[in-house]
Amino acid sequence: PGQLLKIDDLKVSFFTHAGEVKAVRGVNLHLNKGDTLGIVGESGCGKSVTAQSIMKLIPSPPGRIVCGSINFAGVEIATKTERAMQKIRGNDISMIFQDPMTSLNPTMGIGRQIVEGLQLHQKMNADKARKRTLELLGLVGIPNPEKCITQYPYQLSGGMRQRVMIAIALACEPKLLIADEPTTALDVTIQAQILDLMKDLQKKLDTAIVLITHDLGVVAEVCDRVLVMYAGKVVEEGNIRDIFYHSQHPYSWGLLKSVPRMDNEAKSNLVPINGQPPDLISPPKGCAFSPRCEKAMQVCQQHQPEMFNIRDGHSAACWLLDPRAKGVVS
Ligand code: SF4
Ligand code: MG
Repeated sequence: PGQLLKIDDLKVSFFTHAGEVKAVRGVNLHLNKGDTLGIVGESGCGKSVTAQSIMKLIPSPPGRIVCGSINFAGVEIATKTERAMQKIRGNDISMIFQDPMTSLNPTMGIGRQIVEGLQLHQKMNADKARKRTLELLGLVGIPNPEKCITQYPYQLSGGMRQRVMIAIALACEPKLLIADEPTTALDVTIQAQILDLMKDLQKKLDTAIVLITHDLGVVAEVCDRVLVMYAGKVVEEGNIRDIFYHSQHPYSWGLLKSVPRMDNEAKSNLVPINGQPPDLISPPKGCAFSPRCEKAMQVCQQHQPEMFNIRDGHSAACWLLDPRAKGVVS
């Protein structure tokens, strides 16, 4: 009923000279209207590629959606043509990225960039578009919108540029906002302000959000639910409490240990996860985390663990959760 997005068994590969890089290897996810979902994992885990698939922005070639279904508001996206996608992008689904400088046009004033978008997509006349632009800039906390519309991107700080990007993303009143590492390039104070802003806007506008990040701390700020990805698969799924206080996957434990804490200035307790993610041209036969996992058992090298249900809405792909592992594991 309230479902906005449902992805089933999505597989995305990049066909390179070295071989087929299986970047996304069977991802399932769902999102209701107004939901906030975080996708967390190290770089290369497939989180950005999953997000790009929703917008059909996989660079092709070499990338391709190999199989799976992406259902957005009742419409199948995976098989849509580029032309059809252009209507959906920036209308029903918007995306913001880590570095606003690469998505803003450096040669065009801020005002014009937003006004022209509104005229084109929302068919507003110039007057109305200008009014709406000032409104949007105010909404995202730009202190002086009248001045901002006359400025160029390079005249704004990183935090202000990201606010402008959010204003542009929200201009079309999208049902879904995808944010890929939106605050990674910003310093901690500004990062917190932008996350507050996103939370605030989400409540006000009831936009669903998919937030992609390597930082579980960022997810905790904004999201209700979390997917933890590793080597192209979802390894754990749950709400914030499930993941922070009751996580069941050894990879999630590793991520949690590496979350920087505000009260930990020296960051001396930060523990990076040992080892490297696997090569996705020839991923391990069994659990992809097994080469790095302290709890690995014999079965882990041989067979891929299924998703075990822990409680409603909380599940993890780890053999430790198999009832038969009880007693084996201390
Ligand atoms: Fe570790 Fe085995 Fe669980 Fe994989 S399935 S995370 S190797 S215990
Ligand atoms: Mg990325």
